[in-house]
Amino acid sequence: MNTETDSKCRLCQQFDETIDHIISACPILAKEQYIKRHDRVCTQLHFNICKETGVQLDKKHWYEHVPKSVETSQGGKVTILWNQNVQTDRTIPNNKPGIIIRDNEKGTCMLIDVAISGDRNVIKKKPRIF
Ligand SMILES: [Zn+2]
Repeated sequence: MNTETDSKCRLCQQFDETIDHIISACPILAKEQYIKRHDRVCTQLHFNICKETGVQLDKKHWYEHVPKSVETSQGGKVTILWNQNVQTDRTIPNNKPGIIIRDNEKGTCMLIDVAISGDRNVIKKKPRIF
């Protein structure tokens, strides 16, 4: 249309400013904004897990919730860990899942790691069961 509009991202100036780039691929936004978004999703998940497992909550709404490192349900049946390293026999990169739900009666754990990926990364980030 004979305009001199630059198609490069206004933040990083490296890639075309597409929706996909803004939502999940900009190196400038990745440093802070994508982490904040990830943490907000984990916070809501943490709030709902606490609510479902009978953990005493200070706040009524998830968006007011500030996850503690360790939460224990009333009666001690379930412990919920937030952002804790997992000790392993061998070195595993990224061994810090967002949430760990430990069933203290069964002695089992469920590890929840949240990935908010763009469409082009969905295959890389598909759910894994260990
Ligand atoms: Zn960018």
